[in-house]
Amino acid sequence: MKLLKTKKIAGDIVVITGLHIGGSSDTIEIGGMDNPIIKHPVTSDPYIPGSSLKGKMRSLIEWETGKVIASDGKPCSCGKCEVCRVYGSSNKDSQQGPTRIIVRDSFILETIKKDFLDNNTPILEEKNENTINRITAVANPRPIERVVPGVKFRLDILFKIIDTGDGGVADEKYLNEVVLKSLALLELDYLGGGGSRGNGKIKFENLQVDGLKVELPKVD
Ligand SMILES: [Zn+2]
Repeated sequence: MKLLKTKKIAGDIVVITGLHIGGSSDTIEIGGMDNPIIKHPVTSDPYIPGSSLKGKMRSLIEWETGKVIASDGKPCSCGKCEVCRVYGSSNKDSQQGPTRIIVRDSFILETIKKDFLDNNTPILEEKNENTINRITAVANPRPIERVVPGVKFRLDILFKIIDTGDGGVADEKYLNEVVLKSLALLELDYLGGGGSRGNGKIKFENLQVDGLKVELPKVD
């Protein structure tokens, strides 16, 4: 096996409806809200952890390709399929070589941050999501922190093309059929929490592979 090249997938992730990726409880400030979003420890800016993005992309392509087993709901661990090849496998007997994809954390675009600041518009909002008491029909509001629509994050993905005796043909194919398709499926789904309540719709803009413009494959 030989590493032929590392492709760079870049673009903007545009927030269409409020985005909530939860922070861990140990980062909650005293007097802060119950459901904060994750923020960068140094800048305090919201960001999209690479692990969240990768996990969602993988889950969607597993659904699409029929790899979800109803009994366990775990990621595919066959070590043989195209999803395991791209996203990695816990199967020690996997003959597919190293995980091809690296999904970096996505940070807010500095230009967008400045635009919001110049317009005196906050990039975060608190939204009350109600649960309805079944007996009294009284709504019980629960504040959720979200990134507001219009905010953009930088997509930063690396993808290794490895020659497994085929001159890298399979990996070139999976860049489109697995990686870009995962992104297309994500546009039809949501990122973060509360997707069924309308949160987390995103779209991709200015997508490029190695600096060349690409379109996402069609999904239906
Ligand atoms: Zn698999």
